[in-house]
Amino acid sequence: LFVSFEGGDGAGKSSILREIGKELREQGYSVLETREPGGIRIAEKIREVILDPSHTEMDGRTEALLYAAARRQHLVEKVIPALNEGKVVLCDRFVDSSLAYQGVARDLGLEEVLKINEFAIDDHMPDVTLLFDIKPERGLERIAANQGREKNRLDLEHIDFHEKVYDAYQRLAEQNKERIKVIDADQEFESVKRDASHVLSGYLSS
Ligand code: C5P
Repeated sequence: LFVSFEGGDGAGKSSILREIGKELREQGYSVLETREPGGIRIAEKIREVILDPSHTEMDGRTEALLYAAARRQHLVEKVIPALNEGKVVLCDRFVDSSLAYQGVARDLGLEEVLKINEFAIDDHMPDVTLLFDIKPERGLERIAANQGREKNRLDLEHIDFHEKVYDAYQRLAEQNKERIKVIDADQEFESVKRDASHVLSGYLSS
């Protein structure tokens, strides 16, 4: 079973992923917890190119292609072999992140970014995607609280960007109801975890 975890910043998806991984192992499942570039040499190198702050001339489409390339290599080297071994793969962010962040929030176009990602993943879409749903204001408040500081001016200036990411995820969920399951992430940690486990248990028992 291939599961991706998605959501805006401060949704708590990465912490929930770890907890779910632990829970599934305790139930006897063999689990791979991963996130791109996932320690894959070539994918790590591609990420270095994307994230190098001196690459100020980086074109938006180049960036989207590089994300897709790193995703491809991580998929082929790590995710597909694990699925073939019968593992449950829990992947922190996948295609939907590119659609929301690069496609919509950075204005490259959802359809365009989808096209290059379809080429990259060649039908290996997650069986189920958990979308951790929290309004950007609340997500940023959480991050600030975790860091023991007030929500700063920078966060507020970026709120438009996060709103775009949020709206994009909502649209994706609406268009992909079969695959994307929305989890209310604006609840206590234990309740979010319970809801996420509940959704996955339906897939694992079938
Ligand atoms: O997964 P995490 O919440 O740590 O993501 C960190 C950041 O990486 C996101 O807030 C987003 O700005 C960026 N990102 C992106 N495009 C992706 C994946 C992540 O811009 N495809």
